[in-house]
Amino acid sequence: MRAFNHINAKSLDEATALLKKDGSVAIAGGGDLLGALKDDIFPDYPKLVVNIKSIPELDNIVLDGNILKIGTLVTLADAARNPLVIESAKAVSDAAGAASSPTLRETTTIGGNVCQLPRCWYFRKLGNRFNCARKGGERCFAISGDNRYHSVFGTGVFKTDSNTNRGCIAVNQSDLAPILAAMGAEFVTTERTIKAADFFGVGVLSATVLNMGELLIEIRIPVSEVSKNCRYKRFAFRKSIDFPVLSVTVAVDADKSYRVVIGGAAPTPYIAVKAEEVVKGKNITDELAQEAGIAAINGAKPYKENEYKLQIIKTLVKRELIALGSN
Ligand SMILES: Cc1cc2nc3c(=O)[nH]c(=O)nc-3n(C[C@H](O)[C@H](O)[C@H](O)COP(=O)(O)OP(=O)(O)OC[C@H]3O[C@@H](n4cnc5c(N)ncnc54)[C@H](O)[C@@H]3O)c2cc1C
Ligand code: SF4
Repeated sequence: MRAFNHINAKSLDEATALLKKDGSVAIAGGGDLLGALKDDIFPDYPKLVVNIKSIPELDNIVLDGNILKIGTLVTLADAARNPLVIESAKAVSDAAGAASSPTLRETTTIGGNVCQLPRCWYFRKLGNRFNCARKGGERCFAISGDNRYHSVFGTGVFKTDSNTNRGCIAVNQSDLAPILAAMGAEFVTTERTIKAADFFGVGVLSATVLNMGELLIEIRIPVSEVSKNCRYKRFAFRKSIDFPVLSVTVAVDADKSYRVVIGGAAPTPYIAVKAEEVVKGKNITDELAQEAGIAAINGAKPYKENEYKLQIIKTLVKRELIALGSN
């Protein structure tokens, strides 16, 4: 690891002021960022690391009316075992309890989880060997390279980019992201409130639409039929310490309006609108669930190495809808 300055921020104002300066980066649990620093993946090595874990009052979980508020510094382990989360949004507890490893879950935060950088192996290659589009370079190495874990729903569009030839097919691998999108959560930042479905994005060294110096403060989940009738299933090759290759979140409200969100399939959580339309207003049968699984991959554009993902999506969507229908 190279040398950098480190400041324990005492307030959000102090942290955001420091983070507006070039060459600074926020650290929460460090589970993602420390690895990136050690592996020296950044084109410009950060000069200043601003610790936000020293800011008080950002690690609470409260039920305020029908809104479940989860502070950005709540650890994955605390989110997984908190009775309020289990009672009102169990899928969040399930996903937080399945992500990474028991040790990492005790230290890494829910905010860091939804802001984590892509795991694409070109992006993460030691010593910044591939200065790809996601780092401000000219091209994506995965499009013509080894793309077995990459997007099957096209390239991500850079949030501030006029160069349409550039694209990134790294997927969002956060376990929490698709669930929060399915539940209609809102993300409160130091500047605004953003709907979960709009929070994720593709930027240079960023997986969110956050501006420079903007920090996530709190995640707000409306407690409703949807948050309670929500199921999450991840597919990974190993049982522990393995990112999901794919995940499926399904939820339903009292009017039988369904949400179907797929993680690990696109640069941001993918809302499978066609699958939602198939089941809208209906009771789930095996045939209908199968039809929805097929609809979920409508419009998919797999690359050379990742066509296998389509069968997993079809199967997970079918199985999870059947399980949801029999709850
Ligand atoms: C071996 C390993 C396995 C893992 N497996 C999984 C897995 O299966 N599923 C999964 O979902 N995750 C997994 N993770 C990720 C991990 O669980 C954490 O979510 C991740 O480390 C980020 O949380 P953190 O608090 O450590 O964030 P940090 O590493 O401190 O930060 C991550 C990024 O988010 C930014 N950031 C942090 N907090 C904020 C904020 N409040 N506002 C704005 N930006 C912020 C930081 O600047 C940084 O860019 C794994 C990580 C490792 C190292
Ligand atoms: S998929 Fe994205 S992160 Fe990976 S090489 Fe291409 S541009 Fe870089």
